[in-house]
Amino acid sequence: MPPHRRRLFCPVALLADGWAREVVLELDGQGRIASIDLSGDAGGSERLSGPVVPALTNLHSHAFQRAMAGLAEVAGTGEDSFWTWRTEMYRILALMGPDDIEAIAAKLYMELLKGGFGRVAEFHYLHHGPDGTPYADAAETSRRILVAAGRTGIGLTHLPVFYAHANFGGAAPGEGQRPFLHDVDGFLALLDALAPACREAGATLGLAIHSLRAATPGEMHAILGHERTGGPIHIHVAEQERELADCLAWSGRRPVEWLLDEMPVDARWCAIHATQMDEAETVRLARSGAVAGLCPATEANLGDGLFPATGFLAAGGRFGIGTDSHVATSVAQELRLLEYGQRLRDRRRNRLAAAPGASVGRSLLDGALAGGAQAAGQFTHGLGIGAPADLLVLDGTEPFLAMAEGDAILDRWIFALGDGAVRDVIIGGRFVIRDHTHSAEAEIDAAFARTLAKLRA
Ligand SMILES: [Zn+2]
Repeated sequence: MPPHRRRLFCPVALLADGWAREVVLELDGQGRIASIDLSGDAGGSERLSGPVVPALTNLHSHAFQRAMAGLAEVAGTGEDSFWTWRTEMYRILALMGPDDIEAIAAKLYMELLKGGFGRVAEFHYLHHGPDGTPYADAAETSRRILVAAGRTGIGLTHLPVFYAHANFGGAAPGEGQRPFLHDVDGFLALLDALAPACREAGATLGLAIHSLRAATPGEMHAILGHERTGGPIHIHVAEQERELADCLAWSGRRPVEWLLDEMPVDARWCAIHATQMDEAETVRLARSGAVAGLCPATEANLGDGLFPATGFLAAGGRFGIGTDSHVATSVAQELRLLEYGQRLRDRRRNRLAAAPGASVGRSLLDGALAGGAQAAGQFTHGLGIGAPADLLVLDGTEPFLAMAEGDAILDRWIFALGDGAVRDVIIGGRFVIRDHTHSAEAEIDAAFARTLAKLRA
């Protein structure tokens, strides 16, 4: 019998249709949930040690940026901003080769698993060597991302990024941007080269356009008209006030307004950040069916501003969470900060609860689960029949969790406990984190330390 064909006994579990006690999940040979046994018969099953909840999707990651988390926290002239952070980011990546990219991604993906993410959408734009020279295999760095995901066991939605310009109107790229650049034909060839590799690795392939700054309308139309991935389409949009001003100067329209006017934005799309929106844009984006990709810890770290989440959800908008630059690596930190940002702005509590009397933790988890799956090109979410057995076992020895029932388990996890609340992580029916530890943890840490030493030099 394959190792992932098993019966898992959950003392309590958040299933797709709600909480249940003494549940046995029966898995098929592909690590999917074949049936759910509520009879209480635990015979022949492996007993999980705490509350079981679905693993979430991290819908926005630039893996290599994990290496610089915490390095840009020394004050400069008093005018530090996203743009000064970006200068430090360019300095670090000029020192990175494929081995470093793989080492950083493997370390990050292990941390994301421990933080409660079972899948990551990698918005991958570091394609070439530091001086912009392509590697002998143009897909080299993407393949390293596939390897890192495979080594750690995290699910991957790979999003190679088109990046050609420094600013609106097709401005020539700067020196630091050379490792990112493609023309349209080169980018389409990269997607074609990666399709079989992603299939073989069990990864979903989509694509990303870095931003409205980095691609002209003509390039965007050419890519969308010819790409054959069928997967999700992501774009950074309206993150920064300067981007808003530059877009207005270029087009007379705001970034999200321009995107919705000019591109066929629908449920395939994920608008990353979408921080700078007025009310009309907020409602239009919500109605488009696209997911808003929110990265609250990074947006706070970079001083971006606050996403209008209350208005967006009231208009029926869909959202998911990502960790972007990875100053945080856990579900609980991102969801907590998403809610707290709205509270600080409004001077009120419980801003993102789905209805009066609803738990904020449950509302946030349900929203991020559905939106994350959509943005990662997955057709199911939650623990139901036919869905992959991607689940978290919360630490049942933690008194807060042992004494909590139903949605209070989620509120204790998200608002009261640290990242250690996730004890085990099972992806596709296989344990990838057991008792807070990954089976390849020592090697992954050692390779990551070697890369940090090199980047410090
Ligand atoms: Zn980003």
